[in-house]
Amino acid sequence: MKRAVVFGASLSGLLAARALADFYSEVVVVERDTLPTSPSPRRGVPQTEHNHVLLAHGAREYESLLPGLTEELLGAGAPHVDMMRQTRMVFSGYELARGDCDTKLIHASRGLLEHAVRSRVKGLSNVEFREGCEATGIVHEDGRVTAARVTRLADGNRVETLASDLVVDALGRGGRAATWLTELGYEAPAEDRVKCDVRYVSRFVSMPADALNGDHFLLVGAAPGLPHLLAACYLEGDRWMLTLAGMAGVRPPTTDEGIQEFAETMPIPDFCETLREAKPLSDPVSLHYPYSVRRRFERLRRFPDGLLVVGDALCSFNPVYGQGMTVAGMQARILRECLAEGSDNLARRFFPAASKAIDVPWSLGAGGDLAMPEVEGYRSPRIRLLNRYVARVHRAASRDPRVAAVFFRVAGLLEPPSALLRPGFMARVFTSRAPRRRDPRGA
Ligand SMILES: Cc1cc2nc3c(=O)[nH]c(=O)nc-3n(C[C@H](O)[C@H](O)[C@H](O)COP(=O)(O)OP(=O)(O)OC[C@H]3O[C@@H](n4cnc5c(N)ncnc54)[C@H](O)[C@@H]3O)c2cc1C
Repeated sequence: MKRAVVFGASLSGLLAARALADFYSEVVVVERDTLPTSPSPRRGVPQTEHNHVLLAHGAREYESLLPGLTEELLGAGAPHVDMMRQTRMVFSGYELARGDCDTKLIHASRGLLEHAVRSRVKGLSNVEFREGCEATGIVHEDGRVTAARVTRLADGNRVETLASDLVVDALGRGGRAATWLTELGYEAPAEDRVKCDVRYVSRFVSMPADALNGDHFLLVGAAPGLPHLLAACYLEGDRWMLTLAGMAGVRPPTTDEGIQEFAETMPIPDFCETLREAKPLSDPVSLHYPYSVRRRFERLRRFPDGLLVVGDALCSFNPVYGQGMTVAGMQARILRECLAEGSDNLARRFFPAASKAIDVPWSLGAGGDLAMPEVEGYRSPRIRLLNRYVARVHRAASRDPRVAAVFFRVAGLLEPPSALLRPGFMARVFTSRAPRRRDPRGA
């Protein structure tokens, strides 16, 4: 296999390039932005300025693709945070109990994570980056994609055709593969959507590292009747990223007073006190995420050889569950496993395997969204029952560290959701004592 072209140099494109580099003599990564040489934000990835959590499962996938990455991030100052002992989580109005689940999270900012992954991939001798170049199409002959079309923005919009054995669309949620397929006479993939209508407002603030009594992460999830979320995460550079989010059309404020008032709608009075003393380090920035979308390429009867779709272009998850970067890592591993078995029928093998990996995070996210009466969408009797049960799990987890540990591991994609339905676990959930702390909002 000679040349693979990857469209998009954000995390899913970079990780796919890492996997491809072991199988193709040349991998070309095409990116519209000029890529920074430091962990700074850039236009094509506006979410960089908002809180990003790499789930525990994701950290393992990244480490296996790029051995030594964890040490590198820690060396760059990213805190290594005990998932249960140093994180304070409030779900369905209940603060989860502390205990042991033997797992640590890497608190690197999104900018630092992408910078570290990019530096590694740039260091591979057979990977070339074409920056300032727009992915504008694919060339198709006799049922296979044979080349990538690229417009060189810095060069008078000169169009270039790159012959390739494989083109990978890693262009994010605005991925172009579906449009290109229909232009070539193929069907577009069906789409599953959940209209979560999420708005983020984030800023960096300065607070002491021990501002939360040694906790390095605070997350207050949305509760039925109050679709507000808040996250505060201690990051490299001795700073905190504060994110407010609203679901189902709620718009978090962007003024200093508004931010304080929004935080005060949450059951975290001690944090609100601390926040009052915090010093802003950056202006608040906003981002609107209208709906989650899953494109069902695995269901297409006809699909050309020589084309794949990865990352948010394949499935873009509601960001409040922190899943996209982890699933990008899972897909890169799957791509590597598929290529290890050869390049024939690659799409026919990759899409079903990737879809299987997407199933769990998608159902956790869509199920969580539909627990909110404010979110539009059909709730089957099964989803209603599961959501009532999950609220009960949160209640029990506020008292019982063993229930909390299993919940943490399922949310971190380390265990399947079926772990919440094991008889012994369910017995603990239904016999738990009264909750330790009740949300004053009555959620
Ligand atoms: C507000 C927010 C918060 C999030 N929080 C989390 C979190 O906590 N945890 C988590 O795991 N995930 C989170 N995510 C998701 C995560 O950001 C993505 O899953 C991750 O970036 C992987 O996306 P991607 O590489 O597929 O696409 P993107 O990151 O969207 O990148 C697409 C790339 O394609 C480039 N591009 C676009 N069009 C063209 C073109 N025509 N030609 C050339 N290049 C082009 C862009 O410049 C960019 O580099 C969050 C997302 C949002 C929006």
